[in-house]
Amino acid sequence: MELVVAVLLDRLRIGRHSVRAILGHDMNAGLTRAEEPEARGYEKVFAFVREQLLSGQLKAGDRLLPERELATRLGVSRPVIREVLRGLAAIGVIEIRHGSGSVVRRPGFAELGDLFTMMLAQQAEVVEDVMEARIAIERQAIRLACARATAGDLHALRQALQLIEDTVKDPQIGGDADFAFHAALIAAAHAPTLASLHAAIAVLLQRSHFERRERITNLDGIDAYLVEHHRQLLDAVVARDADLADRLLMQHFEIGSQFQRRAAAETGRA
Ligand SMILES: [Zn+2]
Repeated sequence: MELVVAVLLDRLRIGRHSVRAILGHDMNAGLTRAEEPEARGYEKVFAFVREQLLSGQLKAGDRLLPERELATRLGVSRPVIREVLRGLAAIGVIEIRHGSGSVVRRPGFAELGDLFTMMLAQQAEVVEDVMEARIAIERQAIRLACARATAGDLHALRQALQLIEDTVKDPQIGGDADFAFHAALIAAAHAPTLASLHAAIAVLLQRSHFERRERITNLDGIDAYLVEHHRQLLDAVVARDADLADRLLMQHFEIGSQFQRRAAAETGRA
C-alpha cells in the first residue's frame, strides 16, 4: 500500500469540493436535490477504491474491476463510474487503458505537486503557511540524512552548494539553487514518504524560495549568509552530527525570517 495514495485520497475524502473540482464540477455550486444521489454515487466509488488501496487489495499494476461490475456492485450508474475513473486518472491514481480497463498506478511527483498546489493555492498566506510544513519535513530529513547520507548524496550536496555560490546574485536561479540544495538534503534522508510530501509542495516551495530571495537580494551581508550557512549545514551532515545539523537548520530558517523582516522594514522606509 502506498501511503502517498492514502494521504491523497484522504484529502479528497475530507474535501468534497476538491473531489468535485477535480471531476470538473463548479466548486461553488451548492448541491441541489437532484444532484444529491449523484454526489453520493461519486463518494461511494471513491470510498470503494480508497478502501481497496488502504487494505492492500489493490496495488500498483493491478486491474480495477470492469466498469460494469463496479456499477452493479456499488449500485451506481456507469456514467458516474466513468467520471470517477477519469478523476482518479487525472490525479494519477489509475491509468485508463482503452479496451483493457483501468490499472492502478502510483501517482508521480508531478501529479501530486499539481494537486497539492491547486488545493493549497486557494488558501490565504499559502507561501508562508507552506514554510511551516517545510520546517517539519526538513528537520526530520536532515536528522535522517546525518545517519543515512551516502557518498553520492554528499557529492550532490557539494554540487548544490557550488551552484548556490555561483548564482548568489540572481534571485531566480539563486532561488532555484537554494531549493535544489534543500531537495538534495531531503533525498539524502532516504525516506520515500517524506520525499513525496516534499515533492508535493515543491512548486510552492520553489515559488517561496524565489519570492523570499527577491526581497532580500540587495541586503548587506546576504551573500555571505547564503553561502556560509549552507556550507555549515553540509559540514554538519558530513560530520553526521544530527543535533548540530538540526540546530543550524532552525537558525537557517530563523535568519531567513530576520532578513525578511529587515527587507520589509527597509522597503517601509524607502
Ligand atoms: Zn537554504
